[in-house]
Amino acid sequence: MAYEVPPLPYAYNALEPHIDEPTMHLHHDKHHAAYVTKLNGAVEKYPDLAKKSPEELIRNLSSLPEDVRGVIRNNGGGHVNHTMFWQIMGAKGGNPTGAIADEINKAFGSFDAFKEKFEAAGVGQFGSGWAWLVKTKTGELKITATPNQDNPLSSGEFPVMGNDVWEHAYYLKYQNRRPDYLKAWWNVVNWDEVNKRLEQAGAFFK
Ligand code: MN
Repeated sequence: MAYEVPPLPYAYNALEPHIDEPTMHLHHDKHHAAYVTKLNGAVEKYPDLAKKSPEELIRNLSSLPEDVRGVIRNNGGGHVNHTMFWQIMGAKGGNPTGAIADEINKAFGSFDAFKEKFEAAGVGQFGSGWAWLVKTKTGELKITATPNQDNPLSSGEFPVMGNDVWEHAYYLKYQNRRPDYLKAWWNVVNWDEVNKRLEQAGAFFK
């Protein structure tokens, strides 16, 4: 079965006014769809690869055939990144709850200090890419950024949450004001989903 774009778990206008409806249509229906189409094209002649989850594909980039490695890195990454992105948004934002709240306080001192560092990672990513909160093999929470559609899984870290800083994620509403988009994004983070991913991180390293 070919890879598919999962439907948004909420309405296209659910993230207004922070993320506008036209951006959500373009981002989900066009950009994410394009990554999935290209990923399907790349695995067409490799039935063994097509059976793997997209996460498995990008975890072992060096094991992939050279002729499709780059395409899978970019488009498998694009698929995994955006699938997470839709899931971790949609709620009313606010302060983190549950285990992630405690872990953020422990690792960064406070939610405000964490937000500042995460936003700085997003602003500092030159060109297109992502800002991440990852869990490392040693159980540490760390803020990172990657270019393009590279995912922390490819370097053995688990993405607990990430924000898309490609211009397609914000340009219609925020134009060149990436810092404003990064600040507004906290209003739409679904901390319940982030907590679920934090739990998955534990299983990932077992
Ligand atoms: Mn995107």
